[in-house]
Amino acid sequence: MSDIKLDDIVSLAKRRGFIYQGSDVYGGLSGTWDYGPLGVALKRNILNLWWHMFVDSRDDMYGVDAAILMNQKAWQASGHVDTFTDPLVECSECKGRFRADKLDNPNKCPNCGKEGTFGEARPFNMMFKTMVGPVESDAAVSYLRPETAQGIFTNYKNVLDSFYPDLPFGLAQQGKAFRNEISPRDFIFRSREFEQMEIEWFVDPANWEAEFERWRLLGHEWCRALGLPAENVHELEVPAEELAHYSKRTIDFEYDFPIGREELFGLAYRTDFDLSNVARVSGKNMEYTIKGTNTKFVPHVIEPSFGVERALMAVLSAAYREDEQGGEKRIYLALPEHLAPVKYCVSPLLKNKPELVAKAREVYEALKKKHGAVMWDDNGNIGKRYRRQDEIGTPKCIVIDFQTLEDNTVTVRDRDTTEQARVDIAKLQ
Ligand code: ATP
Repeated sequence: MSDIKLDDIVSLAKRRGFIYQGSDVYGGLSGTWDYGPLGVALKRNILNLWWHMFVDSRDDMYGVDAAILMNQKAWQASGHVDTFTDPLVECSECKGRFRADKLDNPNKCPNCGKEGTFGEARPFNMMFKTMVGPVESDAAVSYLRPETAQGIFTNYKNVLDSFYPDLPFGLAQQGKAFRNEISPRDFIFRSREFEQMEIEWFVDPANWEAEFERWRLLGHEWCRALGLPAENVHELEVPAEELAHYSKRTIDFEYDFPIGREELFGLAYRTDFDLSNVARVSGKNMEYTIKGTNTKFVPHVIEPSFGVERALMAVLSAAYREDEQGGEKRIYLALPEHLAPVKYCVSPLLKNKPELVAKAREVYEALKKKHGAVMWDDNGNIGKRYRRQDEIGTPKCIVIDFQTLEDNTVTVRDRDTTEQARVDIAKLQ
């Protein structure tokens, strides 16, 4: 288990412009978070890594981007209107409301400390309800989607008609999801607005076990790509009695977060539950015909469902380090290079020497043109600049000094080892 404290990560994230409390200036809005310049860069790097790994580098995956607002029938068909609930208890003393299955002591109110003040738990639907259009009526009801998956199922037939891929094939989507969590907590881990990266992988039901196994292995590959230590990733085979209503088998991939071992992402065998429901409620045929035959069936589905916030929190937890340099405590983020929000920081050794500044700008502009994620920093002394860059996980700092003017070499300083090397400008990647 990691001995890093969540508070350290939250405070670094705020101090350095990764993540702020949502609506902070107005006192905040519980369960919402805003990404600052470095947070949005890190988040995009995670999203892009996922898209590259699961969509762009494969020829059996199709991307979609469905609307967040959907016809209410989608949520009736999927069972969310009736069953997407968490158990809610209310304290008769302080009126605090809590999620019953997440209480440390089911008889004690965590707010006022009184015992025996909870009545029966009642189901609380977590979907945010809204109205579409100017008339408030039952027909106008819609919901902010609580998962991106239904936007995939509703487009399965469209993609089939346009591309008719061979089985197995997948549809992938990234986008916002909203859940009115009873108790949002643990930084971005349990938010009310978050982002998912989901795949619905359509298979012949005869092959579901082999396909499930493929995705189990790919789940670990994803963790490796995020730079998460394998020993902190665990599989939890969800017991039959705890499976979601749509699932015949689920593995929760858990991670040793600073808050303990918790779900990072899930892998579920959803059978033909969703497509059959779409067919039943829409009246449209969802069958797949094997090419050149009369064999028809509704494909079954394996669903790897990833959360961006939890991936980001795991990446930050895995990268957070403290050590000592020159007798001083140092905090740094050992982020994998491909995820770091800033790849290079470029500085002139002295900011009041125009010839150094001009040469440094030249190097900076060439690298910026190539990588985009390059920062200019000429504030304070070099030591301070290194500390700042260490805290945001910049892998390499480049310094232009007087020797550069003579031989076109620069100092490249490594974040993790703090070692410096002289490198020819032409050799900078
Ligand atoms: P939990 O049991 O922790 O509430 P869940 O089993 O309801 O999660 P799923 O419905 O399987 O979660 O959602 C798929 C993924 O979406 C999760 O593995 C997680 O990464 C992410 N996710 C779900 N709910 C939240 C949330 N409230 N905040 C951030 N991410 C979430």
